[in-house]
Amino acid sequence: MAAIDALPPLREVIAAHGLVAKKSLGQNFLLDLNLTARIARAAGDLAGSDILEIGPGPGGLTRGLLAEGARRVLAVEKDSRCLPALAEIAAAYPGRLDIINADALTVDAAARLTPPIRVVANLPYNVGTELLVGWLTPPAWPPFWQSLTLMFQKEVAERIVARPGSKAYGRLAILAQWRAEARIVLTLPPEAFSPPPKVHSAVVHLTALAAPRFPANPAILSEVVAAGFNQRRKMLRASLRGVAPGIESLLEAAGIAPTARAEEIELERFCALARLVAAARGK
Ligand code: SAM
Repeated sequence: MAAIDALPPLREVIAAHGLVAKKSLGQNFLLDLNLTARIARAAGDLAGSDILEIGPGPGGLTRGLLAEGARRVLAVEKDSRCLPALAEIAAAYPGRLDIINADALTVDAAARLTPPIRVVANLPYNVGTELLVGWLTPPAWPPFWQSLTLMFQKEVAERIVARPGSKAYGRLAILAQWRAEARIVLTLPPEAFSPPPKVHSAVVHLTALAAPRFPANPAILSEVVAAGFNQRRKMLRASLRGVAPGIESLLEAAGIAPTARAEEIELERFCALARLVAAARGK
């Protein structure tokens, strides 16, 4: 297959800069540039968007994004050892790559980008879910991003796209699917990474909806869903007892059997219940 750019292969880059992978930083690098270009293409219209990339590492995905025509990439990397390798990529794509050496959990990178903004990342497993929850719970909706194209452990990806009635269905599925369209676009075996992780990985593509699928107060929906799934084996009339007085009649009014368990309940019903709880509290 043809090379995607004129830069050296990633194995050479990693050797030249001594980028021995650190487990503490969730470093499992993608070495196949045709694969990173494929992930970049799954993100949608790159030429018309600014891209926020978290954890570029030696830059495999970054190169994929730039080779596929991203208007501009802002990459946030915590490990300063990666900066010289990333500087070489920035030099090969003048004016299109900016790097911030920071912790993605604390930096407000979105403020430095021009909409439309897409987030694309092979996320460090140790902070991936926390970053996703942050992107899904902004102070106002729609969020700063138009889409998120993110690599997770396969088990986490399955929890994001899970449907009611499955073991994977829970808070993450409801949070993701309430205000976004979420689907798995690619599954990868451990051997796709260096070093290989213990588990399979998957790329999830989430597109922000203009408005939530069903109206609900975000804080109350989150409280109801948390209470229901924290004790997922219990019937809802028991697990939600502390949420509002008269919870049985609120459940019935929302079209939910009080004896049902959280994992059986559709998003639409949870939203109806959140509205009834809000009304019962006078909110
Ligand atoms: N994008 C590269 C690739 O696909 O080969 C590297 C992906 S590796 C799974 C995760 C990257 O995230 C590493 O480069 C790691 O140093 C970086 N990282 C870990 N924690 C971070 C954090 N809190 N903020 C920013 N980057 C972080």
